[in-house]
Amino acid sequence: MTDCLFCKIVKKEIPSDIIFETDTLMAFKDINPQAPHHILIIPKNHITTVNDLDERDSELIGELVLAAKDLAKELEIAEPGYRLLFNCNADGGQDVFHIHLHLLGGRKMTWPPG
Ligand code: AMP
Ligand code: ZN
Repeated sequence: MTDCLFCKIVKKEIPSDIIFETDTLMAFKDINPQAPHHILIIPKNHITTVNDLDERDSELIGELVLAAKDLAKELEIAEPGYRLLFNCNADGGQDVFHIHLHLLGGRKMTWPPG
């Protein structure tokens, strides 16, 4: 997708603070962090929302969650705890329409979210 912000980040047409990348995934710091640690983990391939996932994406989604878990350990927030979050469409608070898993940690999270 040529006009997708996160596709541009994947292609490095827009700078980002990259934490890691693999053939299929990229993780970078959120530009407007909502917690001391706020990282976005995305598939390199464009997928617009969680609604667009199907069975063929099972492995990819598993990779996203496992990458988040590994990052949480590296950041030493695994034991105190952290939050993983996908926002979907307007009511879910999605602003960027390329799926991304939020990893938030370093403070106590509130529940329910706003
Ligand atoms: P969402 O509301 O779930 O779509 O989340 C989009 C997230 O992307 C927000 O937390 C933004 O702060 C973040 N964001 C927007 N633009 C950038 C950017 N250029 N680099 C890193 N994060 C960004
Ligand atoms: Zn995209």
